[in-house]
Amino acid sequence: MRQILHIDINSFFASCEQAVDETIRGKPVAVVSSIEGRNCILLAVSYEAKDYGIKRTMSLKQAQSLCQNLILRVANHNMYQHFSNKFIKILCEYVPIVESTSIDEAYLDMTGTERLYGDIKEFAKKMQKMIYDRLLLPSSIGISDNKSLAKMASDYKKPMGITEFYSANIKKQVWPLSVDTLLGVGNKTLSNLQKLGIYTIGDLAIFDKTQLKIYLGENSSEMLHKLANGIDDSKVITYDKDSVKSIGKEITFEEDVTSRDIIKRELLLMSENIATRLRKLDKRAKTVTLKIKYNNFTVITRSHTLEDVFNTTNIIYKTAVELYIKQCINTMPIRLVGVQVSNIEKKDIKQMSLFTDKEDEKNEKFEKSIDIIREKYGYNIIKRRI
Ligand SMILES: [Mg+2]
Repeated sequence: MRQILHIDINSFFASCEQAVDETIRGKPVAVVSSIEGRNCILLAVSYEAKDYGIKRTMSLKQAQSLCQNLILRVANHNMYQHFSNKFIKILCEYVPIVESTSIDEAYLDMTGTERLYGDIKEFAKKMQKMIYDRLLLPSSIGISDNKSLAKMASDYKKPMGITEFYSANIKKQVWPLSVDTLLGVGNKTLSNLQKLGIYTIGDLAIFDKTQLKIYLGENSSEMLHKLANGIDDSKVITYDKDSVKSIGKEITFEEDVTSRDIIKRELLLMSENIATRLRKLDKRAKTVTLKIKYNNFTVITRSHTLEDVFNTTNIIYKTAVELYIKQCINTMPIRLVGVQVSNIEKKDIKQMSLFTDKEDEKNEKFEKSIDIIREKYGYNIIKRRI
């Protein structure tokens, strides 16, 4: 049997703020995207703020009406990244197989380490204490024989919980839980499932698979049915960020395209996708490459290397469009267009001070806030105007 741990830092941004400022420890704190007006979104709230009934999904006004003494902090993503790096480093000191899946979460594969570390639950307690002692960050830990159950278990009791969900006990422990606690069940899937009379994970686990396929489509019905039955073979993968050499995206059109506006729109969407992925890896690149395949199957690629490293949509898009405009003197119909960034720096982002351009710095901060909002509320919550 595999032994997998999922560790999640609780209320990560708010906890980081409390870790660095003892005057706000034990107090209601909200981390906001910006302090001014309409664009202010709650990114995280401390457990003390949650005790007032404040939720991340509320507006600042609503939150302040529940708690007049709510302490506000503007998100400091560099600081959070710094904590995240330290968190992962602690894990790597003890376990060789660590998969960091987001800024405040990681899976550990502890299979076969009983002799080294003893009982897994005791080890989890030790890690939780270690993370708290060294970083002052509360965490919750899930233990299981697979990744999805481990993640659900870490979600089960917060803060500072340790929960074991094993696939052998799934009927007793997991089946009674509401179906939206299952990984991959978002609001839309939830309402589809409820229409079928599926309210608990157990309802889903025993539901007729063919029927489910009709409502959810082949891929997600298959996946959700497996997860509800505690089946998940995915491995904990130690991901070496430094091995990434390039990041790209391309699109093949269903019909050949001649409209510059359509090409530009696609370039923008691809640039945004690439910039998000770069930031997720905490990397910056220096080179943008544009690829175009014409309807006569000629392929051209054009690259431009910038003076400064970048990781924002703006710069990637601007450079890609410049390359495109230079190339497209002719109006030959285009079948495929792609963007790639390369020359990716080895080191992780450590400081903002390497910016030479204030505007770039502002853009990066702005786009990082968007990443976080999207991670929480779904990609489509913010749409670019094109
Ligand atoms: Mg968390």
